[in-house]
Amino acid sequence: MLTPAEPDLVSPQSSLDIADTQDRSAQEALRESEKRMALALSGSATGVWDRNVTTGEIHYSSGWKAILGYAEHELSNRIDDSYERLHPDDRAYVKSTIQAHFDQQTESYEVEHRIRCKDGSYKWICSRGKVVSRDSEGRPLRMVGTTTDISAMRAMSDKLQHTVDLMTSLTDEVPGLVFQYRLMPDATSFFSYASAGIRDIYELTPEQVATHTEAINALIHPEDLAAYRSSFDLSAANLTPWHCEYRVQLPRQGLRWRQGDAKPRQLEDGSTLWHGFITDVTERKRIEAELQEFATVDYLTQLPNRRHFMMQIEAELALIQRTGDRCAAVLMCDLDHFKTINDRWGHAVGDQALKHFATILSDQLGETDLAGRVGGEEFAVVLSGADIAEATAFARQMQQRIEETPLLAGDQRIPLTVSVGVAAMHANDDSAHSSLSRSDLALYRAKKNGRNRIECH
Ligand code: GH3
Ligand code: MG
Ligand code: MG
Repeated sequence: MLTPAEPDLVSPQSSLDIADTQDRSAQEALRESEKRMALALSGSATGVWDRNVTTGEIHYSSGWKAILGYAEHELSNRIDDSYERLHPDDRAYVKSTIQAHFDQQTESYEVEHRIRCKDGSYKWICSRGKVVSRDSEGRPLRMVGTTTDISAMRAMSDKLQHTVDLMTSLTDEVPGLVFQYRLMPDATSFFSYASAGIRDIYELTPEQVATHTEAINALIHPEDLAAYRSSFDLSAANLTPWHCEYRVQLPRQGLRWRQGDAKPRQLEDGSTLWHGFITDVTERKRIEAELQEFATVDYLTQLPNRRHFMMQIEAELALIQRTGDRCAAVLMCDLDHFKTINDRWGHAVGDQALKHFATILSDQLGETDLAGRVGGEEFAVVLSGADIAEATAFARQMQQRIEETPLLAGDQRIPLTVSVGVAAMHANDDSAHSSLSRSDLALYRAKKNGRNRIECH
């Protein structure tokens, strides 16, 4: 192998000149091919070996020795010495692989392992070989092969693998979907990268969005789809960060909230490329909605709470002050002997009574009227555009409805009445508190005069 057998190309003396010429050119071609082979081997940090299995000798090419840093006559040709140079961790694997080939279990022999150099350091090499002759019983006699230095490749691939592992861990382990999304000039779009999180975020696979995004569009809540699309268009047009909060309707998880953030970049072909992530914000949205409710709505009666009602009544006063020609009436309603209801029927029935009253009140309100629960069993009402007479009529009708639709506890009727104080809102009032105080004074009179009454300021 190292000194290729001289090819048997010598022609008989009697051959024609033309045959002789053919032989010469064939020999030349062979020499050329050998030269190319030698060049290729030296250029690829590859050495050659030739092993006599019977005698336990191995012959190495000078290129092979050079890989390990040895000069031409520095290495022994004993196979036992060669095994000594193997990295201890690789020795068993190399030996068993070669044995498998000796035993004809494999077509050829190929291993990657570490080998000790002259200076004591280890190099990664790839060895390939084949038994080229065997005795009549199939026992190996001679084996030849090549060895290539793959240390640099190995180091690079280790580094690359490390980077890939880190990238994959980062994108797949981080909750949510990490993506690269591309919008083409013809308005088609696709996810050129989608992390494993797409299974949670959209219940889809990366393959399902690799060429188009119809699968995602079909999952986005119809009411949010237009805003979702235009948020991308806007981000592409101005190259501003993409941010969108939208709902998805998923086969397994049902209705969920998603939030997406990404940075756009314009590509040469006119397309836009985003890198970003989408996360599940369902729980946050639920809490936000709850907080909002707590902040403005009274949980028991679902009417505006005191704080929210005060903001609304101030806005009503501001409107009257601006227009000058409008009026409004303020009613303060307080349930009579409410403590007795609680004491006699229990707090839960008391709550029922509050809800019952709130429903009757709400049903009677016009579109521009306001009502709020401003105290335990106190409710305030603003009738927009109403004068005292109209407000009194409103209060009377309310008392009548309470009378007509009694609240029952079992088969017992809960005695429920309300006292009402009425006052007008004036354009020259300093604040909404002025008209509320006036209606409060009227209410006080209603209580004093026997309850279940309406008094005007
Ligand atoms: P009056 O008609 O003279 O105003 O008598 P009243 O008993 O209605 O008035 P008072 O202020 O003495 O008592 C109001 C009661 O309302 C006291 C309180 O326990 C009760 N209350 C306040 N908020 C709630 C509530 O959310 N649920 C229930 N069940 N009771 C409440
Ligand atoms: Mg009260
Ligand atoms: Mg009361």
